[in-house]
Amino acid sequence: MIEKDIIVVGGGIAGLTAGLSLVCKGRNVLLVEKNENCGGLMNSFERNGFRFEAGARALVNAGLVKPLIKEFGLDIEILPNPITLGIEERQLIIDGDKSLNLYADVLNELYPESKDEVGRIIQAIRQIIEDMKVLYGVDNPLFAKEKRNVLTMVPSVVAWMFKFLRTMYRINKMDTPFEDYLDGLAANQSLKDIIGQHFFRNTPVFFALSYFALYNDYIYPKGGVGAFIQQMVEAVRARGGEIRHHTEIVSVDAKNKMLKDSDGNEYRYKKMIWTGDLKALYAMTNDESIEKKNLGKFRSRKQAILAHQGAESVFSVFLAADVPPEYFRDIASGHVFYTPNRQGLGTVHTAGLQALLQRWDTLQEEELYEWLERFCFYNTFEISIPALREPDAAPPGQTGIIISALFDYTLTRKIRERGWYETFKKRVEALFIKTVSSSIYPGLKDKVLFSFSTSPLSIYERAGSSEGSIVGWSFENKIPVVTSMFSMGSSVETALPDVYAAGKWVYSPAGGPTAIMTGRIAAKRCK
Ligand SMILES: Cc1cc2nc3c(=O)[nH]c(=O)nc-3n(C[C@H](O)[C@H](O)[C@H](O)COP(=O)(O)OP(=O)(O)OC[C@H]3O[C@@H](n4cnc5c(N)ncnc54)[C@H](O)[C@@H]3O)c2cc1C
Repeated sequence: MIEKDIIVVGGGIAGLTAGLSLVCKGRNVLLVEKNENCGGLMNSFERNGFRFEAGARALVNAGLVKPLIKEFGLDIEILPNPITLGIEERQLIIDGDKSLNLYADVLNELYPESKDEVGRIIQAIRQIIEDMKVLYGVDNPLFAKEKRNVLTMVPSVVAWMFKFLRTMYRINKMDTPFEDYLDGLAANQSLKDIIGQHFFRNTPVFFALSYFALYNDYIYPKGGVGAFIQQMVEAVRARGGEIRHHTEIVSVDAKNKMLKDSDGNEYRYKKMIWTGDLKALYAMTNDESIEKKNLGKFRSRKQAILAHQGAESVFSVFLAADVPPEYFRDIASGHVFYTPNRQGLGTVHTAGLQALLQRWDTLQEEELYEWLERFCFYNTFEISIPALREPDAAPPGQTGIIISALFDYTLTRKIRERGWYETFKKRVEALFIKTVSSSIYPGLKDKVLFSFSTSPLSIYERAGSSEGSIVGWSFENKIPVVTSMFSMGSSVETALPDVYAAGKWVYSPAGGPTAIMTGRIAAKRCK
C-alpha cells in the first residue's frame, strides 16, 4: 500500500500544474500517469529526425503560460508562433489587431456580394478582441512570481478583477451556438462556413469569436510543446514530488480513500485530484464505496456525467517532405488555419454525416470515400510546421508537416468495426496530402518521404478521453459541468469527499488555458 497526502491522477497539463503548485508548497505528492510519458494531449515526438506535436501544435499564453514559467522557474525559451489564416490562394499572417482589417479585405474580395455581412462579422470580432485584452492580455495576478506584500498586491488584483468581472458578465451572456449567432449577422452560407467551420459544432459565440484574438496569443516552446511538459515533469521531481508512469487507476474507493491501479497496486490518499475523464472517475467509483450521506449527491452526479458526450475529435496526418522549410516560409507561417475552397463545408459535416451514419449498415466502402473527398475538399485544416519555428526540428533541407481537421469519433469507430480502418487511414492521409498539394503547397505530394496518421481512436486510447475529445464536453447538448466563468472556482468540486477534479472535463469551453487554471484551483483547494 502506497500512502501519500495528495495523489494527482493524470499527467497532462492540468495534472502537472496541480502537482507542481502543490510540491512548491511543500506538499507530499504522487502523480500517476497511465502512459509512458506525461503530457496527455500536449506532447511532442520524433520520427526519423523529424519532430512533431501529437497534441496541441503550440500553446495559447492566455496570460497564464508565461507567468507559470516564471513562477515555477522553468528553463524554457518561448519562440513566436505567428498564425496564418488562409483561404484558397490568399494567406494572411496575423500580426496584431490591424490584421482584422486585412482579414475583412480578404473576405470582401472572396464574397463581394456580402460586404455588409462581412462588416457585421468583423465588428463582432473587434468587440471580442477588446474583451480578450481584459481577460488574457494581462498576466493573471494569481500566477504572480514574487510573493508580494498583500497591501501592494490587493489594488492590482482588485483593478484587474473589476475589469475582469465586467467583461465576464458580458461574455457569460454570449453562450448561444456560434452557428445561430452567425445566422443573425449573415445570410451567405459559404461566408458563415468559412468563419465557423473550424470550430466544434455549437461552439459558444464568445469562444469562437475570441479565436481571432487568440491567434495573436500563441507561443511555441523551444524544443516543442513536449519540452515544456518535460520541464514541468522535472520541476515536480526536483521539488520532491513523485511521478509514476505506466500507472492506470482503475478503481476508486471513496469511503476508504483508496485507489487501485491496473496491476492491482493500492494507494491511499488524504486528498485526490482527478484530471482524467470525469466519466471514467464516476464509472469506476462503486456506489458501495460511498458513505450513505453522500450517496444521493453521488448518484445524481454520476447519472448526469455518464449521460453526456465529448466534443468532436481530430484526424491528424504527419508527413515528412523532401523540401526545405524556406519553400513553406515563402507561402505562410509555421501555423496555418487553411481552407482550400471558399464554398465551405455546407452540410457535409452535419446533415451529410448524419445521413451517412443512418444508412451505415448498408453503406459501401466507396460511398464513404466519396463523402470523405467532399469533406476534405471543402474543409478547413490546421497545418503546423515545427521547422518554421525552429530549424532543427527537421533534418537539413527537409520539413515535417502536420495537417489536421476535426473528425467524428463515432464514424471512426464504425469504420473500424467494419474492418476498413487501415485502408481508411491511408485514404485520409492521401486525401489530406492531395488537398494541400493542389492548393496551398503545390506539388507537395510528389516530395513526401513518409507519412502516417492518428485518428479519434488514437486520442481515445492515449488520453483515455471519451469520444476522443480534445476539449471535453460536446457543445451540442446541455453541458454537465460549470460553464460560467463566475463559477470557475467550483468547477473542481466532485461528489466524492476530498476528491477534486481539473482539466478539460470540469469546465466548458475547455482547452489548454482552462486546464491550467483548473489545475491551479484544484491545488489551492487541497489545503
Ligand atoms: C491536435 C490538438 C490540437 C489542440 N489545439 C489546442 C489549441 O490550439 N488550444 C488549446 O487551448 N487547446 C488545444 N488542444 C486541447 C488541449 O491540448 C487539451 O484540452 C489539454 O491539453 C487538456 O489537458 P488535460 O490535462 O485536461 O487533459 P489531458 O491532456 O488529456 O491529460 C489527462 C492525462 O491523464 C491521463 N489519464 C487519464 N486517465 C487516467 C487514469 N485512469 N490513470 C492514470 N492516468 C490517466 C492521460 O493519459 C493523460 O495524460 C488541442 C488538442 C489536440 C489533440
